[in-house]
Amino acid sequence: TPFSALGLDESLLQAVHEAGYQQPTPIQAKAIPMALTGRDLMASAQTGTGKTAGFTLPILHRLAHMRASKAIRALVLVPTRELAIQVHSSFQTYGKHTSVKAAAIYGGVDFDEQLQLLNEGVDVLVATPGRLLDLINRKHIGLESLRILVLDEADRMLDLGFREDIERILKTAPVKRQNLLFSATFSKDIKQLAHDFMRHPVKVEL
Ligand code: AMP
Repeated sequence: TPFSALGLDESLLQAVHEAGYQQPTPIQAKAIPMALTGRDLMASAQTGTGKTAGFTLPILHRLAHMRASKAIRALVLVPTRELAIQVHSSFQTYGKHTSVKAAAIYGGVDFDEQLQLLNEGVDVLVATPGRLLDLINRKHIGLESLRILVLDEADRMLDLGFREDIERILKTAPVKRQNLLFSATFSKDIKQLAHDFMRHPVKVEL
């Protein structure tokens, strides 16, 4: 399958071309067309499989087709600051020919700096659960416009004890939204998480 067959906007195909990618990885070929339909999706994918573009590209596509707003419409929860930085950078790379704005917040960075970023208005937020919950509790962030949620490396988030933070965060978001879950394994706990937060997810296993 070539990238051009996945249903993505020309602006995204251009960015992918500039990144030097010849063709989609297997997870991208399966996940991107499915995610574009708006359905919930759970995919088993390790780091290095191209999973990040597997969700950033369809999110950028869907946001570009929604009515513009100054509110957070997509949220990517990640276990670590390193991954937050990496996912944020993917949004910058693949979204460079779109007007979608992404920001990342994570622990250990100056609060005021992150707030200033948010006040400028972002469409996509990449965040670690602890820091995000903190900002939600202080009413600095609201998720009332959220349309798409990603749980990236969900198994690691559970290992790090983020289950309750995730629950509290999602209580503040609309129930009607698209959920995408990526995990290296589909353990019992991951299946329970999917059961609690997703609606009839399509399963993509590699
Ligand atoms: P990830 O698994 O998302 O961490 O991606 C692993 C690496 O693969 C990253 O450095 C990406 O830039 C690269 N990558 C993602 N998609 C493709 C592709 N279709 N062709 C070649 N490289 C890719």
